[in-house]
Amino acid sequence: MVERPRAGLSKVHMQIQTAPSTTPFSQLDAHGRLRHLVTLEGLEPDLIRELLDRAQAYLRRPGQASAHGNELDGWTVANLFSEPSTRTRSSFQLAATRLGADVVNLDLQLSSRTKGETMLDTIYTLQAMQVDVFVIRDAQAGVLQFVAEHVEPHVSVASAGEAHTSHPTQGLLDALTIHQYKGGFRDLVVSIVGDIKHSRVARSDFTVLSALGVGEVRLVGPKELMPPAGEFPGAKRIHSLDEGLDHADVVMMLRIQKERMEDAHIPDDAHYCAEWGLTAQRLKRARPEAIVMHPGPINRGVEIASEVADGPQSAIRMQVTNGVAVRMAVLASMAEARRGRAA
Ligand code: ASP
Repeated sequence: MVERPRAGLSKVHMQIQTAPSTTPFSQLDAHGRLRHLVTLEGLEPDLIRELLDRAQAYLRRPGQASAHGNELDGWTVANLFSEPSTRTRSSFQLAATRLGADVVNLDLQLSSRTKGETMLDTIYTLQAMQVDVFVIRDAQAGVLQFVAEHVEPHVSVASAGEAHTSHPTQGLLDALTIHQYKGGFRDLVVSIVGDIKHSRVARSDFTVLSALGVGEVRLVGPKELMPPAGEFPGAKRIHSLDEGLDHADVVMMLRIQKERMEDAHIPDDAHYCAEWGLTAQRLKRARPEAIVMHPGPINRGVEIASEVADGPQSAIRMQVTNGVAVRMAVLASMAEARRGRAA
């Protein structure tokens, strides 16, 4: 499967090639505090645990009022999305407003980007309106770091998902969800099932779970949806769903990322479901107390049956709830880092 060329990104691309950075990129400030969140790669386990603890503290029981704070008082957060999003975008918006920020939402497909404005000009325009954090989802790998290298020193960049390469807040919220249900990571078997090749979620989950010392990660799926050799070091690759589910503690189902495939390579839904779809019957291969996760959007009857998605082992809605808390934790940490720098 070949990555589709992306329309409308050539100007960013050109700038990436013509304006290489001279200093190594760091997401952390001089004191090791989180300034940007572009990737989970290289983050210390202690910093990850700190973010998860902070997120946990923002959670409330169902029926209780949601957590609010003033950590982002006076801040403006801009959501810039060039790919579709339901959960990530609304949870970043809720996270920012619940912490006191103003939020501007820009759908890049409907912005002046389509009139030829470059990504950087869009950023500089919004920076001139005193945006403090750019939350960016982009189909092209490298854009996030590029923007982070060009914003003013007080401004932060948070990834909302980048190409097939990374989705750091999803990785964090998945780690938080697993921790809540399982109490740790060390003895767990986590099976990631489906289109791993095109999944930024699988990559960020693998990074965070490895950092936190997970017992075993299995990549389960058809050969043509496996990532290139060399990626996911140490993970077991299994090409049978039943075998991949055997004694698993966590089953992470993935959608087929059709938007990143050539048409000729898109699997047929019915055949895919017959071989790789998770049904209640198949789930019996996993441990009885196994949880089922899915980053959404779910395709019912393709990679997951409704009886599983809505069943007693499903943690899917908890993942969504945790998404807001994790994004609050990330934004609050960035605000704290800036206050620390100013002090
Ligand atoms: N929402 C996730 C993402 O943006 C997963 C998916 O789209 O299938 O990567």
